[in-house]
Amino acid sequence: MTAGPDPGGRVVIVGAGQGGLQAAMSLRQDGHTGPITLVGAEQGLPYQRPPLSKTYLKDGEAEKLNLRPESFFEKKEITLRSGCRVKAIDRQAQRVSIGEEEVPYDHLVLATGTRNLVPPISGVERAIGLRTLEDARALRMALEKPARIAVIGGGFIGLEFAAVARALGHEVALAEAAPRLMARVVSPEMSEHFRRKHEEIGTKLHLGNGVTDVTGDGIVLADGTMVPADLVLLAAGVRPNVELAQAAGLEIANGIVVNESLRTADPRIFAMGDCCAFPDPRSGAMIRLESVQAATDHARCIAKAITTAEPQRYAAVPWFWSDQADWRLQIAGLAGPDDLSIPVGDHTVLRFSAAGLTAVETINDAKTHMKARKLLLDKVAPSRDFLEERNYDLMAL
Ligand code: FAD
Repeated sequence: MTAGPDPGGRVVIVGAGQGGLQAAMSLRQDGHTGPITLVGAEQGLPYQRPPLSKTYLKDGEAEKLNLRPESFFEKKEITLRSGCRVKAIDRQAQRVSIGEEEVPYDHLVLATGTRNLVPPISGVERAIGLRTLEDARALRMALEKPARIAVIGGGFIGLEFAAVARALGHEVALAEAAPRLMARVVSPEMSEHFRRKHEEIGTKLHLGNGVTDVTGDGIVLADGTMVPADLVLLAAGVRPNVELAQAAGLEIANGIVVNESLRTADPRIFAMGDCCAFPDPRSGAMIRLESVQAATDHARCIAKAITTAEPQRYAAVPWFWSDQADWRLQIAGLAGPDDLSIPVGDHTVLRFSAAGLTAVETINDAKTHMKARKLLLDKVAPSRDFLEERNYDLMAL
């Protein structure tokens, strides 16, 4: 059995975050007329998370985070079930359970996102995470009076938070087990740029020095250093929310496994955004991305698949951004850990695999970033030789 185009079918979307909402909106934009139920475990309207570690910590304006007003859901006839958790999927009967209630579906979209990874550090429960608006509210309150802050993790969220806390005048130390910042996502050269930036704004960095304990007085590092702190932020990565899919017998491997059309092995069930592992359209490797771009582009692709007869192959170019102090880091494409890095000028790094350009990292340079996204969209990426002959000047292409 395959689930063909079905513009009048009943769609249930589990997870009312950035991706789940986009799926509902795209379905309506694409002419889906059937019932759409958007179920979200968090209270309130769907909201955007990126500002939680950026502007929200400064301005505290929660309404600005809402992706759509309440009236939108009524107007578009999207049933929003906030504060409701889907407990189980009955694939045979094609329905999900919310408490005692059973909601039938013709198409099910899993957009369950991620939760914070809690590493086995003694006393880690004393640390605060930053994933939800509720977390951000708690952190904002803690930032109201002068504090000594320790951050566990030198990835995007830890660094964004550290930069805001410094701008607000707090004392900030950050510990990262890896020898460099954002090691999973950027080149060594870009890590170095950001190391200097964070030190320049006064953050004390402890690199290659993991945290072993969170105590009432602060954090203890692997080398025995004690970092005093009144507030500890845990930003050590995330885990995909896969348990619901797993209990329903769907394949899990660092996320809910889907094919190039973002379908699971059950043709009636798609998975998308932070919670899914999908084949990278360029390398073919199974990847899981944590980004607004992936969540929203996945959503658009799934909406098309449900509402049209065309088989949809997901092919978007990944891109990311992170605001840290007065720098906006943008990454177009996806580099492998062993990809070659070619720094160009002070604020750009090009990444290459044997097949050609894989990613472009820029600081405060939206033009080059947009150009890189266009170049990476082509089936054949520019080779290193080709770009070398042109002094790696993307804007000249
Ligand atoms: P989410 O938006 O996380 O939504 C998943 C939702 O599903 C959650 O609300 C969850 O409660 C709900 N859910 C889970 N299980 C169930 C269930 N069984 N029943 C009902 N509901 C359920 N990305 C960027 O690209 N740029 C940034 O600058 C950036 N900054 C970020 C800053 C912070 C502080 C955070 C936390 C994230 C940031 N991200 C950023 C990541 C981005 O927010 C995510 O990639 C994006 O939200 C993923 O969308 P999603 O729909 O997959 O998951």
